[in-house]
Amino acid sequence: MSSRWAVEPGLAPYAAHESASRGRRHPEPPPEARGEFQRDRDRIIHSNAFRRLAYKTQVFVNHEGDLYRTRVTHSIEVAQIARSIARSLRLNETLVEAISLAHDLGHTPFGHAGQDALNECMREFGGFEHNLQSLRVVDELEERYAAFNGLNLTFECREGILKHCSVANAAQLGELGERFLEHTQPGLEAQLANLADEIAYNNHDVDDGIRAGLITVDDLRAVRLVRRHLESVDVEHPALSGRRRVHETVRRMVNEVVLDVIRASGGRLAAAQPGSIDAVRAHATTLIGLGDEVRSDHLELKSFLRENVYRNHRVLRMTSKARRVIANLFQAFTADMRLMPPEYFQAATQAGERDGARGSARVVADYIAGMTDRYAILEHRRLFDPAERT
Ligand code: MG
Repeated sequence: MSSRWAVEPGLAPYAAHESASRGRRHPEPPPEARGEFQRDRDRIIHSNAFRRLAYKTQVFVNHEGDLYRTRVTHSIEVAQIARSIARSLRLNETLVEAISLAHDLGHTPFGHAGQDALNECMREFGGFEHNLQSLRVVDELEERYAAFNGLNLTFECREGILKHCSVANAAQLGELGERFLEHTQPGLEAQLANLADEIAYNNHDVDDGIRAGLITVDDLRAVRLVRRHLESVDVEHPALSGRRRVHETVRRMVNEVVLDVIRASGGRLAAAQPGSIDAVRAHATTLIGLGDEVRSDHLELKSFLRENVYRNHRVLRMTSKARRVIANLFQAFTADMRLMPPEYFQAATQAGERDGARGSARVVADYIAGMTDRYAILEHRRLFDPAERT
């Protein structure tokens, strides 16, 4: 596959070059005024699923406040972190941006609680996994093009979206699933988007957790990565307090982690010297990552957040409610598929004729996964509150 942009000067040999792309599932003429990975990114931004990310959340439910991260601002933060690192390592900045913007497209309403609840509902029907759902959105569910379902993205972009996958599911994914069966690596842009996702949420959950009053800056002194930056901020700016002190600290944390990724990954790439993206895929380990010290600091931060934010009493009350909403919707729609909008009823009926209960349950899961937080709450009210208009 090649366009006029196929030869990309400035990219390292181990980056994803368009000229070495494995192409799209449905062949298309090359784009005229942009590259192939630019076309991927543009299609992602114009998708329905991307717009819905504005009303989906990661930890805090959407209506709790206007300042918390939504999935769209999270995805933009991931893209920003990944692009900075990509440019510095001479990787393909456009591809890493496309992967970052697409990585959460398959997420359910209500963040991780929603994903767990839907997975539970789908247990007998093949389960629900948000990475796989992101792939399903870009491969099947978006209906925007005359000639094909989905967005028909390049292999490299789809490879990046599919971060994890069970062996059973991988076996059904053809070329894209091979790496989970053969234990090979994805391209560096895929590795980078995955790491940038973690960097983004660990750092912004500190910020959101403080804003929500779940943790204080002083609680965070228990975490090495926070403590060292907080201490230097306090020494350099003793009069600083409140939000500005938090932001200055988080800003320095992100900067340290980003620089560490560049240093550590640059060192590994220099040692391994992969000559192409295929050499990266065949390498025994991933090459993008943190150095040992910062990795262990980052893990410490992650477990602090798990204990003090994600398992906080207030968050648990909210996630328990979210799980109930998802479970109730799933039960109602599988018991009577006519309760869904006519196009979903029709799709579920057809899938049921083809694949039995497994097929129709998948369409119910697609409908629920596509909902925003507030739409799921509204739909739940319409179905279960007799006073509400249907
Ligand atoms: Mg994410």
